[in-house]
Amino acid sequence: MTRYSAFAIAREALRNHQGWQRAWARATPKARYDAVIIGAGGHGLATAYYLGRNHGITNVAVIEKGWLGGGNTGRNTTIIRSNYLQDPSAALYEKARSLYETLSQELNYNVMFSPRGLLMLAQTHHEVRGYLRTVHANMLQGVQTEWIGPDRVKDLVPIINIDGPRYPVLGALYQARGGTARHDAVAWGYARACSAMGMDIIQQCEVTGVRAEHGKVTGVETTKGFIATPKLGIVVAGHSGQVAGMAGFRLPVEAVALQALVSEPIKPCMDVVVMANTVHGYMSQSDKGEMVIGGGTDGFNNFTQRGSFHHIEETLRALIETFPMISRLKMLRQWGGIVDMTGDRSPIISKTPLGNCFINCGWGTGGFKAIPGSGWAMAELMAKGEPGPLAADFGMERFREGRFIDESVAAGVAH
Ligand SMILES: Cc1cc2nc3c(=O)[nH]c(=O)nc-3n(C[C@H](O)[C@H](O)[C@H](O)COP(=O)(O)OP(=O)(O)OC[C@H]3O[C@@H](n4cnc5c(N)ncnc54)[C@H](O)[C@@H]3O)c2cc1C
Repeated sequence: MTRYSAFAIAREALRNHQGWQRAWARATPKARYDAVIIGAGGHGLATAYYLGRNHGITNVAVIEKGWLGGGNTGRNTTIIRSNYLQDPSAALYEKARSLYETLSQELNYNVMFSPRGLLMLAQTHHEVRGYLRTVHANMLQGVQTEWIGPDRVKDLVPIINIDGPRYPVLGALYQARGGTARHDAVAWGYARACSAMGMDIIQQCEVTGVRAEHGKVTGVETTKGFIATPKLGIVVAGHSGQVAGMAGFRLPVEAVALQALVSEPIKPCMDVVVMANTVHGYMSQSDKGEMVIGGGTDGFNNFTQRGSFHHIEETLRALIETFPMISRLKMLRQWGGIVDMTGDRSPIISKTPLGNCFINCGWGTGGFKAIPGSGWAMAELMAKGEPGPLAADFGMERFREGRFIDESVAAGVAH
């Protein structure tokens, strides 16, 4: 694979851009792989990448029923932060955030990581107490966050109204190195790096069954035939329940739609990410100028990957007191993705009742930020058969044992 560089751009400019290679190879399935991963979202692709990079396992297939990155990875609002309350979460998300810092160089692909700063507004006294607690926890965990007052919030976000009659801004939990990255570029960058290692990314290929003998996985049935493997990773987000069902076990996970919308593009007016968890909405401005706006999940289980009108009204109504300027914005488009929610709002990176079958799911509304760390931890689990330090607490047996990693209270909106 030719490296992308200033020199390569200059060379291709001279020969009419005829020499660029495909970013990843078009693959047809082989009969057998050392490891198969179901799901070519960010988490599945990152798992494949770190299997090769960290553990030398490159005879790997990533199987995708649609197009790579076409699930939640290509539908999310790209917030990256690691200011979680519980120690295992902070360790995992901070690992991911720190990998994002150099991901473009690592993958030789510009993922447009933009650590522009992230604010979680405190708009009730209860939230002030909660965020002060998080700042203290983060100090002990080595995660850099700080508490800032309303005047600093106004300096960082000039378009904000801090004196709202119902929900005045009382301060914010601020993570200066939180921010965003380009979602498809993360999937594309990992896919290109996997392909360069000789891995097969097989798109338009649905897994329809999991075959096992004597309690161990032997392969997967797909719409392109049977593929044998001694190691299976299930990384399918909102479809985890169905694929786990094929492998013969149940998950403590429910699927719901999460929606987002963007406005028409406007001049640069906000260069940080702002989350307002009490009113339930958040906003950032894309490089194109659109205001990227998200809210909460639908209040009922569903598999509908599209937006609905009530969501536009609910989300904008929630944000308008704090951001009066959005009352004059036209909304351009909206969409939805199917997210997989656990009861404690923390992910599952786990062995399963089926031998050599591993699962990575439960990222809910906030897994984009975790992609590099999750892939790192899942690859270690798949390679060694046991979780490493990052994944140790995220086994699914915690729901049976009552060992929750409770982020649900700490993060009303968990993006
Ligand atoms: C509107 C919205 C906003 C969000 N905002 C944020 C945010 O700001 N920050 C953040 O950190 N996170 C956010 N998230 C969450 C984040 O997008 C997800 O947690 C993350 O993308 C999950 O990645 P994944 O690789 O696990 O899943 P996905 O990207 O969904 O990939 C799973 C893949 O598995 C494939 N698949 C499913 N079943 C099968 C099968 N049987 N055979 C083959 N392939 C199969 C699917 O087609 C899909 O491509 C948001 C999500 C949504 C929907």
